[in-house]
Parts: sequence; structure tokens; C-alpha cells
Amino acid sequence: MSDSSLKNKIEFILVEPSHPGNIGATARAIKNMGFQNLTLINPKDFPSDESFYRAKGAKDILQNVKIFQDLSSSLQNATLIFGTSARTRTIPWPTKNSSELSEILKKGLENINVKICFVFGREISGLSNEELQMCDYHIKIPTDEDFSSLNLSHAVQIISYVLKMEIDNIDSIPEIIDETPTFKDNEYLIEHFDKVMKKIDFYDQENPKQVKTRVRRLIKRLQPDKLETGILRGFLSKIEQILNKKN
Ligand code: SAH
Repeated sequence: MSDSSLKNKIEFILVEPSHPGNIGATARAIKNMGFQNLTLINPKDFPSDESFYRAKGAKDILQNVKIFQDLSSSLQNATLIFGTSARTRTIPWPTKNSSELSEILKKGLENINVKICFVFGREISGLSNEELQMCDYHIKIPTDEDFSSLNLSHAVQIISYVLKMEIDNIDSIPEIIDETPTFKDNEYLIEHFDKVMKKIDFYDQENPKQVKTRVRRLIKRLQPDKLETGILRGFLSKIEQILNKKN
């Protein structure tokens, strides 16, 4: 598989960027490293002259940008999702730093139909907890501990550089038929779990204590394949059938 077709499996996603200059600088940053796929979630000011001015020779990236209203809609077909954040959050998620990406990335790239997304947050407030919990892994770019928040397009530049280095180092990659569930498949499984847990009063709905979030984290961490996902959903359906018969 050629370098460019591997790079084409990667999507950069900016969530609600407010400064058009950052959108242009991001387009330039990813094109410098040989990437081309950029998605914007509900940008405040786009298209705009400033974003095109700051993109310089990467205006084509902006012309082909995809726009969605929320993060979840843009992730439906994603098979591997990395959320980037300068801060760690209350429910810790599997976190990698940029130098630990190598193995996960190589494995992900083997799948023919893989779509790997890197999600970046708002300039002021970053990604919400809910958005971060949609991701399989979190990445924190190591910085000075006392000043960890990078400019959005600089964070994109560092990640895209690391990705380029990783992809350039791949000599050959076995191609396997994709057995990785998509974000959408995982969401169905998580919702199904939640539905059954509610039906059997597994947790107090007034005081859920993050049970659903912890199930979400479990599934993200285990990354069951399509067959395993099918078994779990079948198991949950069977419980529902038994409950329906009882009632
Ligand atoms: N004040 C915000 C930071 C926003 S910076 C906060 O505390 O969350 C804008 C975006 O750049 C972040 O959402 C993240 O996607 C990326 N970013 C900035 N610094 C980063 C770092 N050290 N590691 C990983 N991503 C970072």
C-alpha cells in the first residue's frame, strides 16, 4: 500500500473552532505532512478570507473540507478515534502520548476499511467530557507541565508530524479485511447495554453514578471485534426477550 493511501485513511477533525486563522493554519499543517482530510464541526466563521489566507498553498484542503453539526455525526464510520487534550479528566480514559502511538496506529492501518480520526477541541474550552468519551484513546502532547495548552494548529502540526514519521517508517503492511466495528456499531452496543440495565433496574436512574460512562470506557478499552459485538448484542436481546415474556 502506498504512503498516500495510508495517509488517506486519516481524518483530522476540529470541533467548533472559533478563529478562522486556526482553520487555515491547520489545513497548511496537515498538507505539509502529506495529509488531506479535514473535517470541521460547527465552525464559527467558515469559509472566510482569513482561513484561506492562512492556508497559503493548502487552499485545496479547505475547498474539500467536510462540515458537520456535531462530533458524533462525523464519527459514524470511524474505526479508531483519538481525542487530544491538554488536561486529564475526572474519569480517566486510556491515554497515550504522541510517542506511544506507533503500535496502535500500525495495527489500525492494516485494516482495509479503517478510518482513523484525530479530534481536536475548541480554542477556549477544548473538548467536552462527552466528546472525549466518544474517543478510543486520549493523547496528551508532552509539554512543560506548567504551561500545557498549545495553540490548536500547533497541536495539529505536532500530531501530523508524528503520524508522518510513523507512516514513513512502515515498509510494508499486511492488508486484512476489516473486522473492526465502527463508532456507530459501538454506540448501538453501548445504548443496548444501557437500555437493558435500565429495564432490570441495574442502577438508580436518579443517581446513575456514571455507570453508562464506565460501560462505554470498558467497550472502548476492550475494542471487541464484529463477532464479539454480535455475541454481546445477541445476549442482551435474549435478556430483553425473557423480560418481555415475563411481563
Ligand atoms: N483551554 C483548553 C485548551 C484548548 S487548546 C483546555 O484546557 O482544554 C485547543 C486544542 O488543542 C485542545 O482541545 C486539544 O485538541 C489541542 N491541544 C492543545 N494542547 C494540547 C496538548 N498538550 N496535548 C494534546 N492536545 C492539545
